[in-house]
Amino acid sequence: MTSMSPFPVLFIGHGNPMNAIEDNEHHRCWAALGQQLPRPAAVLCISAHWETRGTWVTGTDRPETIHDFYGFPKPLFDVRYLAPGDPALATRIAGMAAAGTIRVDPGRGLDHGAWSVLRAMYPAADIPVVQLSLDMTLSGAAHYALAKQLAPLRDENILILGSGNIVHNLGLFHFHSDEEPAWAVRFQMQVNGLIANRNHTALQNFGDLGADAAAAIPTAEHYLPVLYALAAQRDDDRAALLNDRIISAISMTSVLIETP
Ligand code: ZN
Repeated sequence: MTSMSPFPVLFIGHGNPMNAIEDNEHHRCWAALGQQLPRPAAVLCISAHWETRGTWVTGTDRPETIHDFYGFPKPLFDVRYLAPGDPALATRIAGMAAAGTIRVDPGRGLDHGAWSVLRAMYPAADIPVVQLSLDMTLSGAAHYALAKQLAPLRDENILILGSGNIVHNLGLFHFHSDEEPAWAVRFQMQVNGLIANRNHTALQNFGDLGADAAAAIPTAEHYLPVLYALAAQRDDDRAALLNDRIISAISMTSVLIETP
């Protein structure tokens, strides 16, 4: 690609935190993406695991590694992903939305929605990362509108990386199950069709997508990051699905948006 092309955009279905350190198909998919994509100047990650009132962006130059989970093996708690932050970028991102919409959090580090994926993509941890929080008071449409204001970052070689899961119901999740529940398969197929047809309006209004959507999205935080990726899609861009599979009540489906 030429330097004039907008940088690709990603949504990653991150699933189990162990994907950060296990040599499995998900980790390998993310590692391959890191190799395939051009090298970004920085990463803006929108993760399911930072829920707030109001929208915040990480402003520290040395984000700590947050281990925001319980009951996993020690090696996962030993992970330190010490990519630098980018305070100047954080300030600039805050300035891209209406005054006061995005505020800078000077202390917050990176949660596992960010580092589990980035550790696979960029193991050298030498690309600056900032994270944006999810304002859980906003509607899907409001998240999408906010994300649209950040989409010009693509023209600065910045990777916009949504990290969540389109289907995510831990209450119905069974470890060690190869089951692919019919409702989960149906909903993921519905979403995949809407992505292919660029029906972003229906995807923003996910509360209207029916009973399968209600099972797949019991709470919105894992779903919302995909809206941040889709909002950055331009008219001529294609959206390719990667890792499109269901594991019990979670979908690992990821989306790569590229300008041909
Ligand atoms: Zn998660």
